[in-house]
Amino acid sequence: MHCLDCALAGRSCPSVAICTSCGAAACLACVRIGRGSTRHVTGFSSADLAVTETRLVACKACANALSARHALEYGFAPAVQPAADVS
Ligand SMILES: [Zn+2]
Ligand SMILES: [Zn+2]
Repeated sequence: MHCLDCALAGRSCPSVAICTSCGAAACLACVRIGRGSTRHVTGFSSADLAVTETRLVACKACANALSARHALEYGFAPAVQPAADVS
């Protein structure tokens, strides 16, 4: 599969991840990696809850949208620094 954002821009980049929000494939340059959280029960009562931090991957568009109101919660960041020459 190829990166959707790159394909829309006329480039052909192999994808390395799938956006968990929209399902688009993203290449290494386009993918954004953030934090997710999963709640789970640790004991016999539903009050015995813990939160485990997990990884969340998203495309640029969804990472920007999710970060608009929850930037600190998700902490999305590029997987790699952009190349000097992107033309
Ligand atoms: Zn891309
Ligand atoms: Zn997306």
